[in-house]
Order: sequence, then structure tokens, then C-alpha cells
Amino acid sequence: MVRAVVGANWGDEGKGKITDMLAREADIIVRFQGGANAGHTIINNYGKFALHTLPSGVFYSHTTSIIGNGVALDVPVLFQEVQSIVERGVPEPKILVSDRAQMVMSYHKNMDAYEEERLGGKSFGSTKSGIAPFYSDKFAKIGFQVSELFDDMLLKEKAERVAEQKNVLLEHLYHKPLIKPEELYEELKEYRRMIEPFVCDTALYLHNAMKEGKSILLEGQLGTLKDPDHGIYPMVTSSSTLAGYGAIGAGIPPYEIRKVITVCKAYSSAVGAGAFVSEIFGEEADELRRRGGDGGEFGATTGRPRRMGWFDCVASRYGLRLQGTTDVAFTVLDVLGYLDEIPVCVGYEIDGEVTTEFPTTHLLEKAKPVLKKLPGWKCDIRGIKAYEELPENCRKYIEFIEKEVGYPITMVSNGPGREDIIYRG
Ligand code: GDP
Repeated sequence: MVRAVVGANWGDEGKGKITDMLAREADIIVRFQGGANAGHTIINNYGKFALHTLPSGVFYSHTTSIIGNGVALDVPVLFQEVQSIVERGVPEPKILVSDRAQMVMSYHKNMDAYEEERLGGKSFGSTKSGIAPFYSDKFAKIGFQVSELFDDMLLKEKAERVAEQKNVLLEHLYHKPLIKPEELYEELKEYRRMIEPFVCDTALYLHNAMKEGKSILLEGQLGTLKDPDHGIYPMVTSSSTLAGYGAIGAGIPPYEIRKVITVCKAYSSAVGAGAFVSEIFGEEADELRRRGGDGGEFGATTGRPRRMGWFDCVASRYGLRLQGTTDVAFTVLDVLGYLDEIPVCVGYEIDGEVTTEFPTTHLLEKAKPVLKKLPGWKCDIRGIKAYEELPENCRKYIEFIEKEVGYPITMVSNGPGREDIIYRG
């Protein structure tokens, strides 16, 4: 059985925690898209970890972690991450890397930073992890696939060809140091040395695992609104964040994905630029940011303060729909316990008309939130295990949102730890 864990919104919904929790019952966890640009924060019996590339199931000794073909593989980051968890007492994880994954090269990261610098005030707020240049090259057919590392002749020739093309931009657009083909070739050989023991045909591995009835989790990065097709283009990421893409990015048939667990946070946060209708500012935002997540809402990769907002029913309903949600995991609800009243965005006013459907970007930029205030519950709900034990106003908040978004909330997360979860019917 294959299940996908994906995000409904802008990312940082708590997918890492939910995946880590579900991984206890899983055999294989697969990353199928994205790279080291976003992080998952996971808190378990080994401590607190920020993972960027490793799937969130690496903490269990019974699981196999797969870097699927759809991932932007940053080999040094993968290595540092493995090292950093092993140093802290986590058993050596079993990792497999798809021979069809492509690699983020150092020039991708440099060019990401140069482009942001060139755009100045109009920049995307990129984490400068090389993701956009990487995926551009993949689809322009000049990326480096892991399988190519094992063909020396090809590597040498391709290093020259790529350097020639990139150097035009580096010299004339960015005025930065040029790529030396010999150095690029050396970088590729170093990556080969690092990942050789892990490389295999992971799609075939998954095919066999499915035949044996293994339990597989696909772990998404970011959320629907960052999808290049269905998100807030162009303020999106460069690979699809949808569960549907899990089939492609892992190399499995689409009909094998039986459950789509979409993680949705009890309020909103976003990083990077782009329209964010229910955004709040000033002291109101500072307080939510300070109290949010586990120890504040700051980017797991960059440490940047996240932009904050109230729960957005319009964006979330849309996000859940595009994911093909079967189950909603509603997270960080405990954080809202300080509020007397909790505003929720129930509609967008665009040019004087109210809509409840999520529009394309140029209309989204004009949207103003229509807010409804729900009564708060004014207490700490951490530690509660049964739904009926939640305060009445807290249950009302959950049930109001469930009705608004139209998908069943089957899990409520009331704390960052593995055990902080309430299952519903
Ligand atoms: P991801 O990228 O979707 O995995 O999300 P992040 O890890 O970036 O952000 C989620 C943050 O919220 C992390 O700091 C988690 O430890 C924390 N978190 C997850 N679930 C809960 C919860 O139910 N309550 C609280 N207080 N924190 C949570």
C-alpha cells in the first residue's frame, strides 16, 4: 500500500512530523521531488533535527529511505545529513538513491544566487539551493543524471559542453568567475565516490516491494500553492508538489497511491515572496510567529522569519482538492490556545465581489480576506489524546474548518512530538 504525505498550502505544515510518525508502520519512505531548499523539522527520542534531503523516516532502523528520480539531489548535503544524524546516535540509515535522479551541481547554486542578486528587489526569495537552475537544466536536457557518473568519457565531454554554455551567462550576464571543465569533472567524480554504494534502480525496487505488500510512504516537500502548475506562479518552486507527481518522481503507477494524507496547518505561514491573502503583520504576526511551530516560525533551511496569517479556507480547500486528499492531518492546533478569538479567512473579495474559489495569480494579488471570528479555547491542549477531551471551542474550530474545506480531518496534531496526535473516526 502506498500513501503520500503532502502539503496543502505554502509548505511548513508539519509534513516531517506526520511522516516521521507514520513511518513507524512503514517499510519504505520516498522523497519524490524538490531538493535541499526546504526543511523538515523533526523531534523524536534522538533529539531535534532539521532535514533537507533525507526522507523523514530515517530515524527508524526498520525503514529504507529512497531518494527518488524526481528529486534534485545535492550529494554533499545528503552526505552531511547522514553524517550529522549518525553522530547523534541514530542508527546508520538504509539509503537508496535512484540511478535516474539528477544532481544539483555547485554552479546551479551559484547561478541561483547570482540571479537573485541580479533581480534585486524583484527577487523570488530563493533559498539559493540551486533548485530553479537545476530543474531548468533537467528539462533543457543538460542536467547530470546519477547513471551518467559511471561513464567517464561521457562525463568529460559533457562537463566541457555544459561549461561552454554556462560560461556565456557567467561572463556576460552575471560577470562572475567562469566554470573550468576540469574542475566540474572532478566535482562529478567526487559525487560518484560519495554515492556509488547507494545507487540502484529504485523504481524496480519499489515495484518488487509493492508485490511483496510492503508499506510505502511518499513524502512531499512544500505544498500545493508552490506547485509550478497549480500554485501561485511564478512565486512557486520548480518541481510539482502534488501527490500525483509522486507516481512520476518515485517511478510507480499512479493507481498505487491509495491514500493522500494532506497536511494542513491550523493557521498560515509562508516563506518567500508572493500573494498571501490572509497575511497578518506587526505585533499580531510577531506573537503568532513567536508561539508558532516548535520554538517559533523560522525557516528550517534559512532561519528566515516566516510570513504569518490566519487559516485560509479558500486556499486550503483548493490545496486539498488539487492533492486529491483522502485524509487531512490538521497540525499545530495547540499554538492557537492563547487567542480570545480566532479569525479565519472564509472568502476573497476581488474587485468588490466575494469568491470562495482560489483564483490565478493576477486576481489573487487583488484579493482581500473576508474574515470570520471563531471563539478561542484559551488553554493548553498539548497532551490530550482523545478528541472528546479537547475543549468544546477547539472541537468547534476543527469542525468548522472541516466543513469549510470539505475533506475529513482524521488526525489532529497538538504538539511537535511523535506522540502528540489525536486520531478521529
Ligand atoms: P514541514 O516542512 O511541512 O515538515 O514543516 P516544518 O518542519 O518546516 O514546520 C513545522 C514546524 O512545526 C516544526 O518546527 C515542527 O516541529 C512543528 N510542529 C509540527 N506539528 C506540530 C504541532 O502539532 N504543534 C506544534 N506546536 N508544533 C508542531
